[in-house]
Amino acid sequence: MLNVKRVVLRSRPGKNGIPVPENFRVDEVLESSELKEGQVFVRTLFLSVDPYMRCRMNDDTGAEYLLPWRLEECVDGGGVGVVEASKNQSLSVGAVVTSFKWPWQTYSVMDGSLLQEVDPEMADGHLSYVLGALGMPGLTALLGVREKGHVTPGSHQTMVISGAAGACGSIAGQIGRLDGCERVVGICGSDQKCQTLVTELGFTAGINYKKGDISSALREHCPAGIDVYFDNVGGAISDAVISLMNPGGHVILCGQISQYNKDLPYPPPLSEETQETLHRKNITRERFVVLNYMEKHAEGLTQLSHWVKTGQIKVLETVVNGIENMGEAFCSMMTGGNIGKQVVKISD
Ligand code: NDP
Repeated sequence: MLNVKRVVLRSRPGKNGIPVPENFRVDEVLESSELKEGQVFVRTLFLSVDPYMRCRMNDDTGAEYLLPWRLEECVDGGGVGVVEASKNQSLSVGAVVTSFKWPWQTYSVMDGSLLQEVDPEMADGHLSYVLGALGMPGLTALLGVREKGHVTPGSHQTMVISGAAGACGSIAGQIGRLDGCERVVGICGSDQKCQTLVTELGFTAGINYKKGDISSALREHCPAGIDVYFDNVGGAISDAVISLMNPGGHVILCGQISQYNKDLPYPPPLSEETQETLHRKNITRERFVVLNYMEKHAEGLTQLSHWVKTGQIKVLETVVNGIENMGEAFCSMMTGGNIGKQVVKISD
């Protein structure tokens, strides 16, 4: 038996509530490391906190592919770790593995069928990247741009990204640049984030939505209008962007985080004015879900890994230490405390 720390969901914030770290609790439990055929014993290295988890805090997630977390049970999500004992023929001791169903525990017994082996070389040794640039957020950025963005090299397009300094947004903007957009403008929540977008990630400009008028800043930085909009946030920011889009433009409907603490269906309804603009200007706005493109994930990861290893994509991360801080890290990410991907380091 081994003493294991785990995070359970203590309470739900309510569909219209703001999540707080106290919604979670850290317990110490005794876990047996005895394995059945097919199982492995894993040590957790890094855990991910992601916006979709806000829906899992409700008793009804609103999405058929997402189950709610259960009260007083161990929470799960994206994780990466190392196999310490194995009764699974395909996973040997020392293998680095990842899963979308990783329990928020320091150590776990897991069924091998829930795990994918990771080649640490693909992440240039940075195993946390498997939860960010070289995982679900990176694929969301790449496939979102490629499947819904209609970026055409040489056609002088302007791309705008909201939530631009976050896990998906920071990669999406860099891909927009690599794929040939002439201008890539990011919207995010602080001057420091704006500066990082421009000086470190090669964005054309950054706009702090908490300061000044977004529409006039967009007009200044997008003199030829907006052709492609990678939308992570929705709400008033998206209304302002869409009102300045060119006819025939494309909205990549990735996420709507500004509305996640409201009891609304997904995607949340648009204002009549924005709806009218989309219609009048023949702008596409198709919902994008990364899990609908599983067959493109392997190739996508190879592309992302190449860009990261060759320095064409720069990866930003905010790393917090310790399983005790999972709830804090989640709430911080939901309110913009992160730059790049928010991860929690559980062990070395
Ligand atoms: P981020 O790393 O971008 O973290 C969330 C960010 O959202 C915060 O850092 C904060 O940055 C911003 N934010 C929070 N509240 C607001 C608000 N009211 N208005 C504007 N910005 C806000 O998270 P991810 O990159 O993991 O996710 C980004 C989006 O992509 C989410 O909407 C998520 O649901 C979606 N997503 C969609 C997927 C799909 O398949 N469609 C897959 C993965 C993610 P700031 O300081 O700028 O406010």
